[in-house]
Amino acid sequence: MFAELLLPVPIPKFFTYRVPFVLNEHVQIGQRAIVQFGDRKILTGLIVNIHDQPPKEYEAKYILELLDTYPCITEIQFKIFVWIAEYYACTVGEVMNAGLPAGLKLSSESMVQLNPAFKLDESLHGFSEKETILLRRLEHDTLSYSDISKLLDVRSIHSILKSLSGKEAILLFEEVKEKYKPKTEKRIRFTKTFIPSEAIEELFKTLESKPKQEDVLLKYLQKVPVLKDAEANNKGLARKSLMVEDISESSLATLIKNNIFEEFEVVVPRFDFEEDQEIPVILLSEEQEHAQLEIFRSFDQHPVTLLHGITGSGKTEIYINLIRKALDSGGQVLYLLPEIALTTQIVHRLKKIFGSSMGIYHSKFSDNERVEVWNCVLTGKVKFVIGVRSSIFLPFDNLSLIVVDEEHDSSYKQHEPAPRYNARDVAIMMAHFHHAKVLLGSATPSVESYYQAKQNKYGLVTLAKRFGEAKLPETILADMRVERNRKTVKGEFSSLLLKNIGEALDKKEQVIIFQNRRGYSPMINCEDCGWVPKCVNCAVSLTYHQFRNALVCHYCGYKESLPQLCPTCTSTRIKTVGYGTEKLEEELNLYFPEAIVQRMDLETTRSKTGYETIIDKFERGETNILVGTQMVTKGLDFDRVTLVGVFNADRMMHFPDFRSHERAYQLITQVSGRAGRREKTGKVVIQTSSPDHPILLFTLNNHYEEFYRKEIKDRHEHDYPPFTRLIEVTIKHTDKKTCRNASNDLADLLKQQLSGIKILGPGEPMISKIRNQFLMSILLKIPRGRGELTLLKTNIHQSIEKVLKEKTFKSIRMVVDVDPV
Ligand code: ADP
Ligand code: ZN
Ligand code: ZN
Repeated sequence: MFAELLLPVPIPKFFTYRVPFVLNEHVQIGQRAIVQFGDRKILTGLIVNIHDQPPKEYEAKYILELLDTYPCITEIQFKIFVWIAEYYACTVGEVMNAGLPAGLKLSSESMVQLNPAFKLDESLHGFSEKETILLRRLEHDTLSYSDISKLLDVRSIHSILKSLSGKEAILLFEEVKEKYKPKTEKRIRFTKTFIPSEAIEELFKTLESKPKQEDVLLKYLQKVPVLKDAEANNKGLARKSLMVEDISESSLATLIKNNIFEEFEVVVPRFDFEEDQEIPVILLSEEQEHAQLEIFRSFDQHPVTLLHGITGSGKTEIYINLIRKALDSGGQVLYLLPEIALTTQIVHRLKKIFGSSMGIYHSKFSDNERVEVWNCVLTGKVKFVIGVRSSIFLPFDNLSLIVVDEEHDSSYKQHEPAPRYNARDVAIMMAHFHHAKVLLGSATPSVESYYQAKQNKYGLVTLAKRFGEAKLPETILADMRVERNRKTVKGEFSSLLLKNIGEALDKKEQVIIFQNRRGYSPMINCEDCGWVPKCVNCAVSLTYHQFRNALVCHYCGYKESLPQLCPTCTSTRIKTVGYGTEKLEEELNLYFPEAIVQRMDLETTRSKTGYETIIDKFERGETNILVGTQMVTKGLDFDRVTLVGVFNADRMMHFPDFRSHERAYQLITQVSGRAGRREKTGKVVIQTSSPDHPILLFTLNNHYEEFYRKEIKDRHEHDYPPFTRLIEVTIKHTDKKTCRNASNDLADLLKQQLSGIKILGPGEPMISKIRNQFLMSILLKIPRGRGELTLLKTNIHQSIEKVLKEKTFKSIRMVVDVDPV
């Protein structure tokens, strides 16, 4: 028997392996198997086919081991993997690599360690020479598969490892390969001697003079009704639930030592749900009720429906209703959210409602946690997942609804590495495979999605009113040119914004300040000679971070200290240019010394809980002003925010990219939407030097429809999506000239081959060097409706291969990005 395996490598084919006789009965499509790949690599593959045809070109190696008893991925999921690979012009192996959590993939990087129970100092009798060498090394180090293969200089180390694990000398292969470790909890219960309960009453008498130990007993009995129900003792009580208030650790230790209590461990779900929480009953408003009905109607004709509901219109409650209905009818549900929105409010809200039937899939989760969600979806324990873009890879087999919240958000797009997919678009394809419905939701729909709705390809449902009494905030512009002339600008702040902040603080209301640049200032320069410090690896200037007292590259992380003197002219007049969140935070502290200012950006939210802590404090009113990057724009819902200040709207609008107007409109509208979400009407102050810019006028009046009309006209005129499809090829190399030459060759070849397709470039992208790689890019504009997309992509790949055949171009990298964002 032979099995075809999908391996996590960027080679566009499957690999055939021989199934060992003993496994004949056990192999199934969808299981994971360990195989040797090439000379020394060990990889985990997925079985995608089983047959009896030996491969023609090579002698098939044996499968080394089968990791699963049941398939680890579903049939439909595999079809989706294949679709992603085809559409995003990469290999299925790359999709597998991105899709499977690391804990499910044993590879050459997997670790082997000495079994702690094995006594190494005994004479290594009965071990081969190689085994001995390995064991002596493992005494000091944990080694990876590839380390071992190097150390022993043998091709297949599998037999050696197998023999050693058979002798229980190394930690079992089985255990090492499953990096996944279940989470356990320490629990306490009475030892058998004290059940039945008469014994407990006796016990109290003997402990009369030991009040602290008595306290422990009482606490336990209070939480576990052993006296009423002896069986209750079996499950015991979590140690941490017992050790509350002033229960003494040492008394518990004594009780355990005296065999009154015992401690034991149980495996617990990684996501602790407080099951006893009350479920809040929420009744939909008339508008919400109506919108929901329309969505249902729309689903009849349009499996994809767009819900365009302004900020604060109560879209989430509608999602919750739809999700509940879908779950009740037995299907699975996926709720996609942009990265950062996930860590907070919404999860708590949903946890209360869906409890342990809900899985969470998030990039700040450990690999163990991801594996757990994966397995729960596979076994059907979890039918509802709320997650970030990568949750589209989970092993669903029966989706009935996918909600894509904030569908316009660019964090649905994966940039690096392949597959460079957009989770929103994959979701639509998935729904197609599963015969499921998709609800795209946004207050600021992407131009692409809105266009589809206008074309009647998607359904469209609108919610034009905020929930309850809340009104949209009033937006005013602070004209920086006028203020500068009048000299009323203080630091980076207009007098208009300062006045409004002061008023809000006086009324004990909260303020959000949005500035989409982190650090203190994006650049410093010498006032005498104009010198600007640049990154040594990238073609960008270094951002000054005051807190770290360093100049930092935001592209590669390169760091250097701030020079006292200009290195070219020794002048001391070095000044900062422009401003980021750090500088605004500093100024706010200066102007409003009594207010508590909190910054929220990449720096302050690095830790797993950083983001949540900041949000919680703000929610409780412990912080007065929140200043941050676009993190503050996403999905937050606070009671007391009445003022939002927007900095640098100009930079957003003038950014040289065809999507910059759309982005600016979305960001400004979204951050404005954080203001006045309850009774009090909010206010938004936008600082700008181009107050007549149409984008600002649209945001001012909340005219999405007009914004769309202008934007779609521009897109049509300039052949941009949704009227064309874009494919971008980026060429990377450490030598600028080589990079240029290869780019020219590729562009020429593409132009010869592809007629009717506009090919722009090669040209330098805005940042022309990153991490010592020079970049060139070629943009293909493919008219909509050209069917032969697959052929086209094959063509591109063939052209790339042809160029790379040239000897001098060997080490060039060419990256294909379909629908770049
Ligand atoms: P959106 O996601 O559209 O911006 P949300 O779903 O966050 O808006 O709703 C805005 C606010 O209104 C939230 O605080 C939410 O709790 C509240 N809300 C929405 N619908 C209801 C309802 N039917 N009953 C009570 N409160 C609601
Ligand atoms: Zn100088
Ligand atoms: Zn750099």
